[in-house]
Amino acid sequence: MTAELKDLDAFAEVQRLIVVAAHPDDLETLGGGTVALLVQRGIKTFSVNCTLGDIGTQEAHMSRPVLATTRLAETEEAARILGIAQTYNLGHHDGELVADLELRAQIARLYRLTQADTLWTFDPFWPGQIHPDHRAAGQAALDAYIPSKMPLYRPEQFNEPGAGPGCLKRIFLFATDRAPDIFIDVGGVYETKLAACRAHLSQFPQGEANLEWMKELDQRRGQVLGVTYAEVFKQMEVW
Ligand SMILES: [Zn+2]
Repeated sequence: MTAELKDLDAFAEVQRLIVVAAHPDDLETLGGGTVALLVQRGIKTFSVNCTLGDIGTQEAHMSRPVLATTRLAETEEAARILGIAQTYNLGHHDGELVADLELRAQIARLYRLTQADTLWTFDPFWPGQIHPDHRAAGQAALDAYIPSKMPLYRPEQFNEPGAGPGCLKRIFLFATDRAPDIFIDVGGVYETKLAACRAHLSQFPQGEANLEWMKELDQRRGQVLGVTYAEVFKQMEVW
């Protein structure tokens, strides 16, 4: 059995995946290849961005609402390329995300609405995670896991059509150097990953030339498997 198949087995029972990220382009750069592989297998994938990504520019004259609108459109285009079923944006300002009770409830609502069985999010415990929004998104996504399953928590959320108690069973953390244990060979879908990343034109105006850092990272991880490009995750024990 190849390493690719062995490690994809970690996702063998996944049917509905929700990815909680901080910014438009996090999912694509960190896990876009694996999402493409899972969508090919018929797994329904939902993407959540906690912030609007509205400081993601070096152009001081840019307006934040214009940038936010641009990035929402880029998110939709990337989702179309990857085959993501639905995207959500929780509307927080970039650079100011806090893992508070409001964010926890917003995320729990989406666990209940999507009925996802599997969560991917940032590893909030990796000491090298310097971006506060990444830590906050990961922390809030984990904090919402148990309350989402409890009927007395925010019961008004059950009034929405399709909502039921949260049914997440598995959690995988990305953006971690804390002994990742799942390496996915994404070489076969790398062009799709690159296309989804290039859809974020406001972030990568020169296309692939702005994505060399990502390719180098994925190549370094690929060396562990002896393949060209890999993405990595750490499975978290949950009950
Ligand atoms: Zn980010």
